[in-house]
Amino acid sequence: MSPSEAPAKPLELTTPAAWLDATLPIRTGMAHWPDNLGVTVVLTHDMAAGSPANVTELHLSAHTGTHVDAPRHFLADGADVTTLDLRTLMGPAVVVSIQDPHFITLQEIRPLPLQPGDRVLFKTRNSDSDWSQEPFNPDFVRLNAHAAHYLQALGVVCVGVDYLSVGPADTHLALLGAGVTVIEGLALQHIAPGRYDMLCLPLPIVGADGAPARVLLRPV
Ligand SMILES: [Zn+2]
Repeated sequence: MSPSEAPAKPLELTTPAAWLDATLPIRTGMAHWPDNLGVTVVLTHDMAAGSPANVTELHLSAHTGTHVDAPRHFLADGADVTTLDLRTLMGPAVVVSIQDPHFITLQEIRPLPLQPGDRVLFKTRNSDSDWSQEPFNPDFVRLNAHAAHYLQALGVVCVGVDYLSVGPADTHLALLGAGVTVIEGLALQHIAPGRYDMLCLPLPIVGADGAPARVLLRPV
């Protein structure tokens, strides 16, 4: 089967008991930011064609699927993804449901019982569909800069969103510029709002402004 014939339906990732997977499977043709490289997963050595082993080649942006942004993404001299403090990506996290169909706003998040040190993952209208297998949607729900500044001032250490971008440049800067880690492209379709333990481990790609990550959530 060639990659282009890969099944289009959602894939059940195998996850240890009690852990839920919030990671998008990486596959050929999945949604990607329009000016980034499209995603191709291609078999370059094929046992079916006589090769002694199968070898797959990946063509993708650092901001593919479920991934973490490094400061370098929006800060010219910012740190790369190898220097991220993994403590911001491992530990207690809260999945919050957002009702606004366009923005994650200060008005909607101010009443939430968020605390310093929290990792906050926003589940929005984006998660109503399996968007990674649909064309890029420029109308995704995003975090506005006021809300980003509020989260940073509150002492939140990580912000996660359920589409390919957390928001415009000023939103990125409010978070990355203050050392708040950003996870984008979370698969939250089957994750209920509530408290979890989170493991998010981006690949240590030297010099990269982001990296794909596996994200697991365990209800607490
Ligand atoms: Zn990104």
